[in-house]
Amino acid sequence: MGVNVVMLGPPGAGKGTQAERLATRFGVPRISTGDLLREAVAAGSPLGELVRAVMARGDLVGDALMIEVVRDRLTRPDAAPGFVLDGFPRTIPQAEALERLTAGLGALTVVELIVPEQELVRRLCSRRVCGSCGTNADPSAGADSRCGRCGGAWVQRTDDNAQVVRDRLAVFSRITRPLVDFYRSRAAYRQVDGTRPPDEVAAALAEIVGEEQR
Ligand code: ADP
Ligand code: ZN
Repeated sequence: MGVNVVMLGPPGAGKGTQAERLATRFGVPRISTGDLLREAVAAGSPLGELVRAVMARGDLVGDALMIEVVRDRLTRPDAAPGFVLDGFPRTIPQAEALERLTAGLGALTVVELIVPEQELVRRLCSRRVCGSCGTNADPSAGADSRCGRCGGAWVQRTDDNAQVVRDRLAVFSRITRPLVDFYRSRAAYRQVDGTRPPDEVAAALAEIVGEEQR
């Protein structure tokens, strides 16, 4: 049975960092739709041209397009043992599509990272990421440090400015938060306090996913 994990939570909750750790631990890929789209924008591909302006505003890319992107990604061989999805689904139609795409692969484990809004704003407006590979900077890393994975310089994501952050959080509350009700009724839905230190959050997530495997 696969490790089929969906990470839910608002922008800034730590989904990216934790999804990466969890995926590495269970030997499956982290599939971040935000990263897939940012790569497309950086490459100037047709997909990138379609989504560039929508992302810059903090709006959601259309469901049909997103479902295509994820369908494609899930059929790559590295996703055969499972996946940790980060940033998808974000709408009810996306969640329904995911049920269809993963039918027969075993149950989904859905974990939600809980972080209060004022902490999210603080984190997002001060966040730095690697300009080359997108890895999040350790908040305690000095401004003159470089990315540990690829040596790239830290930059601010263009959608991490105060106005777009507010818009992304509003979009989350209005459109993505209702997904919690969609998933809450299911057995494998769990919440984790995302304000705890990163190692503790990682341990809590690994324990939940490990339990579901048994
Ligand atoms: P966040 O920090 O807001 O969670 P992501 O890196 O996951 O950021 O996504 C960045 C942007 O990419 C979103 O604001 C949105 O425009 C687009 N995006 C990513 N995933 C989806 C999705 N599943 N559906 C629609 N749009 C998406
Ligand atoms: Zn890097």
